[in-house]
Amino acid sequence: MYRTHNCGQLRIENVGSNVVLSGWVQGSNDLGHMMYTNLRDRYGITQLIFSKEKTSQDLFDKARTLGREFVVKATGKVIERHSKNPKIPTGDIEIEVTELEILNESKTPPFTIDNETDGGDDLRMTYRYLDLRRKPVQNNIIFRSKLSLETRIYLNSQNFVEVETPFLIKSTPEGARDFVVPSRMNKGQFYALPQSPQTFKQLLMISGLDRYFQIVKCFRDEDLRADRQPEFTQIDCEMSYVTQEDILNTFEGLTKHLFKTTLDVELEDFPRMTYDDAMRLYGSDKPDTRFGMQFVELNDVAKGTGFPVFDNAEIVVGICAEGQAGNFSNKDIKKLTEWMQRPQIGAKGLVYVKVEAGGTFKSPVGKFFSDEVLQTWADKFGAKEGDMILVLSGEDEKTRKQLNELRLEMGNRMGLRDPKKFSPLWVVDFPLLEWDEDSERFHAMHHPFTSPKKADMERMLNGDHETMKSLRADAYDLVINGVEIGGGSVRIHDRDLQSKNFDLLGFTKEEAEAQFGFLLGAFEYGAPPHGGIAFGFDRLCAVLNGVNSIRDFIAFPKNNQGRDMMIDAPSPIDETQLDELGIEMAKEEVE
Ligand code: ASP
Repeated sequence: MYRTHNCGQLRIENVGSNVVLSGWVQGSNDLGHMMYTNLRDRYGITQLIFSKEKTSQDLFDKARTLGREFVVKATGKVIERHSKNPKIPTGDIEIEVTELEILNESKTPPFTIDNETDGGDDLRMTYRYLDLRRKPVQNNIIFRSKLSLETRIYLNSQNFVEVETPFLIKSTPEGARDFVVPSRMNKGQFYALPQSPQTFKQLLMISGLDRYFQIVKCFRDEDLRADRQPEFTQIDCEMSYVTQEDILNTFEGLTKHLFKTTLDVELEDFPRMTYDDAMRLYGSDKPDTRFGMQFVELNDVAKGTGFPVFDNAEIVVGICAEGQAGNFSNKDIKKLTEWMQRPQIGAKGLVYVKVEAGGTFKSPVGKFFSDEVLQTWADKFGAKEGDMILVLSGEDEKTRKQLNELRLEMGNRMGLRDPKKFSPLWVVDFPLLEWDEDSERFHAMHHPFTSPKKADMERMLNGDHETMKSLRADAYDLVINGVEIGGGSVRIHDRDLQSKNFDLLGFTKEEAEAQFGFLLGAFEYGAPPHGGIAFGFDRLCAVLNGVNSIRDFIAFPKNNQGRDMMIDAPSPIDETQLDELGIEMAKEEVE
């Protein structure tokens, strides 16, 4: 028997019991006549004690050979500790060891395996299996497991059926590049890995499964950022005979269930905001609503007074940072302005107005605006003495995006983005199509299967080009703390409307047929009204834990170059494999 208990289990009540523990050596403290060794496993740490007086010389000598990360089995008696350690649950006891078996030795690990570690990112990723021995990393993976279990419990209670859909498929249009897999049996042909199971889940609705879900890997060949991975996991769902309202309620229910069961947090009902309002008030379709600082437009009070920057701008818009006037010296403002002018944000400048005592103001544009005028600005913001108004101007969409960055930065500086506070929001009524000036064509804002709102269907089928820009969709996103957790839509279930959508998106009839003929065909056999949603599972883990990086919640993540440092992938394959696959180009590269 390897163990009677785990390393996190024994308490003062167990004193006197004979036990067997197995685990990894965290470290030892050799006092000469006495030796303490910490034994660790997933459940905790228990102290082993070897004393020269009480144990045989052999056993004592053996204990002295133990190195960090050796795997051992220790048999002994639970005794009360003299100097207790209140920091760990097993801190009242220790094990007086009578037998010690070294199950496996270990090389000295390349970094410290403890809550804090000295290992850099690359090193930890190369030895991810050792990194995963560390408690905080292990906790993340265990949290993830609990989250997926609770997802299954909830969705099962709502009659959802878990169905696996294939990984070797044909391209799915989620707007990213596909990862492709060459087919040996069909030389020159390729499978694509799914960017999502979108078309399959819709087909399952046509099959009458009624409610489908899957916790599923998706693959997107995109440029990577901290919160992106080439393969990631979604909670993917689809429902039949539902309206947008039914879908939002079901997934609000899921989200509340997950917060309650994993964090014991009770979320209030989620507010809803239209896409237009989100863009107008926050300059973002995923606003962080943990704090206010909404945008206020100043066109009517800032233009036409001879300040050319504003006069020539499409929009003058600002935010009010409460109580910040005193916290920003001229130098601080200069720095903030430079931060806004970095190419990543690209603002031309930044105008501030500090509200001072007795209806006076301090601002570099003071000579263009009287105190009376500045007071009308302050009124619009509800600004009071000590507040600081920050104003940007320029082209509408661009300026709002820049102001979004400034708002988030001010939120950070003012400590308004508490990771322990959760502010969920449904963003609804997304546009159906997005006009791309460069390529002069429409893109689907969500994806090509998204339905326009009922009220817009007629306009979509018969309207002109301009009309198409104003079509609204039954499409929605769930945003928590400024992070897009998921999105979905009610789908088109009518062949003609779907064909029209492909047509607007620039597919010829033949292309639409070649790529999605199977779905269009299926629509002709009694497709029920349906819709769905997908949550980014890794992101949900991260947001629940108040962190940004999804990588912490993935057992074996890839780095920023999309590389698995541990198994060293991607890597070349040998020539015979390439020959079998009929791949010539890569072969030349290898040679
Ligand atoms: N397939 C969509 C996505 O991956 C989600 C959905 O519409 O259900 O974003």
